[in-house]
Amino acid sequence: MKKIGIIGGGFTGTMTAVQIIDKSTEPCEIILINERETLNKGIAYNPYSEKHLLNVIAGKMSAYLNNPDHFLDWVMQKDEFINKDKTLIANSFFPRQIYGEYLCNIWEEAKKCAESKQIKITVIDSFVVDLDITENLVSLWLDNNLKLNIDDCVIATGNHIPRNPRIKNMDFYNSPNYFQNPWKIESVKDTKENLPILIIGNGLTMVDTVLGLLEQGFKGENYSISPNGFNILPHRHNGLKYSKLVEELRDDMSIYELVKLINKHIKTVREHGVSAEPIIDSLRPQTQKIWKSFSEQERDLFMSRLRHLWGVARHRIPLHTHDKIQQLRIDGKLHINSGKIIDIIESNESITVQYFDKKENELNEINVSRIINCTGPETDLINLDKSFLKNCLLKGILTQDKLKLGIKADTVSFQIINSNGKPHTNLYTIGSNLKGELWESTAVNELREQAEKLAEKLKAQQLTSPIRKQGFRAS
Ligand SMILES: Cc1cc2nc3c(=O)[nH]c(=O)nc-3n(C[C@H](O)[C@H](O)[C@H](O)COP(=O)(O)OP(=O)(O)OC[C@H]3O[C@@H](n4cnc5c(N)ncnc54)[C@H](O)[C@@H]3O)c2cc1C
Repeated sequence: MKKIGIIGGGFTGTMTAVQIIDKSTEPCEIILINERETLNKGIAYNPYSEKHLLNVIAGKMSAYLNNPDHFLDWVMQKDEFINKDKTLIANSFFPRQIYGEYLCNIWEEAKKCAESKQIKITVIDSFVVDLDITENLVSLWLDNNLKLNIDDCVIATGNHIPRNPRIKNMDFYNSPNYFQNPWKIESVKDTKENLPILIIGNGLTMVDTVLGLLEQGFKGENYSISPNGFNILPHRHNGLKYSKLVEELRDDMSIYELVKLINKHIKTVREHGVSAEPIIDSLRPQTQKIWKSFSEQERDLFMSRLRHLWGVARHRIPLHTHDKIQQLRIDGKLHINSGKIIDIIESNESITVQYFDKKENELNEINVSRIINCTGPETDLINLDKSFLKNCLLKGILTQDKLKLGIKADTVSFQIINSNGKPHTNLYTIGSNLKGELWESTAVNELREQAEKLAEKLKAQQLTSPIRKQGFRAS
């Protein structure tokens, strides 16, 4: 019986397994490796607070490409929503915890289906720490010292914790008052009231962190430092569809022509009292194609000059969360600064942060009690601590794109490309590991389609493997 191993059981790993179960017509074994706490939910849908909301409306969060109302219908049959207006619910931003419940529910249903098809499901509560590969076999080493041999392997490791920004005193990052992982509740618990808190970064995780701190009773001031200090945008004009820009898109457009075209359309909609979001939304289905058409220089240019602007326009927050953030700014509880952190020195009393303030054009200092890193997931595998992905990179099993955004892979077959430029026949990746290849490979919208396509391929490849070893613990 063919054995398929999936490393990472967040949305991507779970939905790949679910789709393989759905599509398989003969028995096989699916082994899903993920720590129990985040199984099925991953980092994104296992938040510590119910104030952490989806940044996409319920009507667009189905886990299935071909069943767009699947999440909405699941929500509507819950007691608390059964009598609510469906259009209102479809346009609501739900707590990410509810989405985690939804994925667990899908998984339970899939397991029943697997049983009826004689598909063996093995869930391993562990971390993969190393990987080796031959043409017919992938070997995984787990953090409980067990070894596992499989026929096909899917790497669905998703979001890595943020990297530590370069400062003079890198030792600071060993401080108990520094929180590198902003998705854990410890980052917002047991705060001291007498001093402000510094949040590095100014995106969606900064917003979640501020809400988390408030919920945990922190009443002090929050500072955010990021390269540009852009205003985070709310979702406005929900449902407004703008098509004129896409009609004018050409395959051979340079990045300069593209920016010119976008600016032209932003000017047009502004004349009608509409802001740029519908334009960005209309571009969204085209972004992978546009990214693929860019030359290396254009990708470099995008990363150095446009990435943060795109990020602000793309990653928006629900209106009521935006109101809350604005009120905190008005009340002097949240200060958004643009600049670069130069150094961080901790004493018994406080942590002194030296930074270059871009607006004031001078060096500044703030004293804080803790620092939370909200700069976004690390993508350069060489910076990952004790990761099998870093080992694979060093061994040449995989390679990275020039910008170190992800893993090099064939975007049709999802096969990982080794250091000789050859695709592996039994090692695949989808999800945020494809950011270098596709740029937008992060949201449910893209991942559900990738999971389905990969499952189609793995199902079609069902072969009998001669190698069987049972040296692992199943939960
Ligand atoms: C905070 C946050 C909020 C988001 N909100 C939204 C949203 O509202 N809408 C939307 O469309 N998208 C959202 N996203 C994007 C999100 O990345 C995707 O929607 C999706 O959840 C990604 O799933 P994933 O399984 O690829 O990654 P993850 O959710 O990161 O899951 C990866 C899993 O792999 C496990 N893993 C990693 N390494 C190993 C290893 N070596 N061994 C075993 N297991 C391992 C991790 O523990 C984790 O459980 C959000 C992302 C984040 C970080």
